[in-house]
Amino acid sequence: MSASFPLPYRIRHSKKAKHLRLVARPEGIELVVPSAVSETRALAFLHQHRDWAERKLSEMRSITAQLQPFQRLENGSTLPFQGREVPLLVREHAGRKPQVQYDGRFLVSVPAGSSENQQHLTLSALFDWAKAWIREQAETIVQRHATRFRLYPRQIRVKRMRSRWGSCGPRNDINLNWLLAFAPLSVLEYVVVHELCHIRHRNHSADFWKLVAQHLPGYAAERLWLRRNGAALLRRFE
Ligand SMILES: [Zn+2]
Repeated sequence: MSASFPLPYRIRHSKKAKHLRLVARPEGIELVVPSAVSETRALAFLHQHRDWAERKLSEMRSITAQLQPFQRLENGSTLPFQGREVPLLVREHAGRKPQVQYDGRFLVSVPAGSSENQQHLTLSALFDWAKAWIREQAETIVQRHATRFRLYPRQIRVKRMRSRWGSCGPRNDINLNWLLAFAPLSVLEYVVVHELCHIRHRNHSADFWKLVAQHLPGYAAERLWLRRNGAALLRRFE
């Protein structure tokens, strides 16, 4: 990997490649250069696609970063979001309903003088927020993947689930665990795709995993994230 460009990258010359291509890998960007293309042109291509490359690398880093195991849900602590820890601010307000705003930090407003404890109110406010957020994201993800093999869910529901990240019912209703809002976005995408693939295969056979890989060739990283961080994620929102 070279360090001169702001992004770590490596050039791979390929006789088989027909076009210039960028591949994101955990250690940096791989620039695949066909024999007919000069290095100068290849580097210009990398510069041109720098935004894409930066986004892919940061996605990849968020998938390899370990989730902090324990943080209380209270003012001044943090919440995991999009692969980073972001500040959590909790304050009391005059309204009767809890509210959540996100502007790079989570701002939770809970009713003043309520008999319920603040942590409980914060948790339920975040649940409502996460539900709406996941629905919106899931819609985009479904649009991206469903048409390819005609895997259309009847509806998507976001729920509190203790032991699963998602499920697909016999009538193709997909349920998603609300805590996926606090996992990296590519993990949510993986879970949605996993459940979409159950519309075709109601099992975890080799054919099922082949179908998942056709949608998301690199899904192993997201599976690993859930295996490594799933328990910590559940614990943080207990
Ligand atoms: Zn499954």
